[in-house]
Parts: sequence; C-alpha cells; structure tokens
Amino acid sequence: MRLILLGPPGAGKGTQARILTDKYGIPHIAAGDLFRDNIKNGTPLGKKVESILKAGTLVPDEITINMIADRLDQPDCKNGFILDGFPRNVAQAEALEKMLKAKGIKLDAVVQMAVKDAELIERISGRFTCGACGEGYHDKFKKPHDPHACDKCGAKDDFVRRPDDNAATVKTRLDTYHTQTAPILPFYESRGILKTVNGMAPMNEVTNQILAALEPKKSPDRHPAPKKGG
Ligand code: AMP
Repeated sequence: MRLILLGPPGAGKGTQARILTDKYGIPHIAAGDLFRDNIKNGTPLGKKVESILKAGTLVPDEITINMIADRLDQPDCKNGFILDGFPRNVAQAEALEKMLKAKGIKLDAVVQMAVKDAELIERISGRFTCGACGEGYHDKFKKPHDPHACDKCGAKDDFVRRPDDNAATVKTRLDTYHTQTAPILPFYESRGILKTVNGMAPMNEVTNQILAALEPKKSPDRHPAPKKGG
C-alpha cells in the first residue's frame, strides 16, 4: 500500500497514519517529524530549517524533496509507505511522481481529510503529545486520565507541545495550506486516485472511511445468480 494522507494541519493525519501503520505494517513518513528530529538532534539540516518551522512557512522544495527521497530509499519502504505532510505543493507532487516512476512504482491512493478551519484552530491550539511514545492528547477532547502520566506508556511528566502550535503560526500554516497545498488536489484527481473522507467525524469513523476508500473496487458480477423462481 502506497498512500498519501493529505489535509490541513490538525486534520488528524498523524493519528490516522499511526493506525494504518499498525494495520498494514508499513512505515509512516511524516515530513514534519523528520524536520523536528533533525532540529532536536542539532543536525546541519535541522539548523537550516528551524526558523522556517517556527514561522510556519514551507521549507524550500530542494531540501524537502531530497530528505523524502532518502527516506523512501530505505529498505522498510519496499512494501509500501504512508506519506503525511508530503507533498505540500505541486512541485513536490511532480517530484514525487518522478521519483516513484524511476522506481517503477505507483501511488495507490491519496486520501484527503477535509476539516473546516475553525475546528482546526481549536484542535491545534489544545494538542500535546507524550514525549516518550508520541501518543496524542488534547486539553479539551482527550485529556490523559492522570494529568502527570501518559495513558499508553505511563511516562511521567513528559508531555510536549509543538512550538508552532500557537495561534499566530497556525494562521500562517492554514494560509500556506490553502494557497500552496490545496492546488495539488486537482493534480491527484486527474490521476484518478484522490479519495476524500470527512475529517470532522469521530476518530474511529474517519478510520473506517479511510479503510473503505482503500478497498479495491469490486468488479461487477458478470454472472449474477439466477433469481429464485425465474
Ligand atoms: P507538520 O508537522 O506536517 O505540521 O509540518 C511542520 C512544519 O514542517 C511545516 O509548517 C513546514 O514548516 C515544515 N514542512 C513539513 N512538511 C513540509 C513539506 N512537504 N514542504 C515544506 N515544508 C514542510
């Protein structure tokens, strides 16, 4: 399964990607996570992109495309992958298409998770994760049972908030999505692989919608069973 999860920041791409990764046994490749890992580890790439992530604008295509190309070359991507946060503009979508063509492979689907801006702002402003296992939480919608410990892995007082999850940067990130990322929807529509799910539905329902969208279309039965009595 080779899949792109597409949607504005806060649409729930990361949450769904983690579920799909477990189901299909393929890696979740999140461009934002790769950048954040580089920043955390103080790499030259991390130093280059830190201020860009803080501002909420896009990292230059050349840097981003090279980073993703390296990641897709890793052996764990052989049987498939879930891309999250890449591509984010038409130039990146074209570069990805070229990259995959050179490997002789194709995308199976691009799943758009549609969510209204007002809801995104509320979702992003209250979210935080466990620094140890990455489990996601929210001040309003999903508090940990013990405010000092992760429900999933039990890590104590290790919750982290992204520095770009603040009101001003969120606005820039949403504007960037509408002006630069949304134009890739027609790109994938024209290739017949775009599917849209309602990202505002409850989490389990979004998962079910994605799984239904990924199911191979059944070809019509050429020899229907004869009607009873006919
Ligand atoms: P995300 O975790 O997907 O919200 O991404 C966080 C930030 O990383 C974005 O606001 C951008 O600054 C940068 N970023 C992530 N993916 C890309 C991409 N495909 N192209 C350029 N910049 C990106």
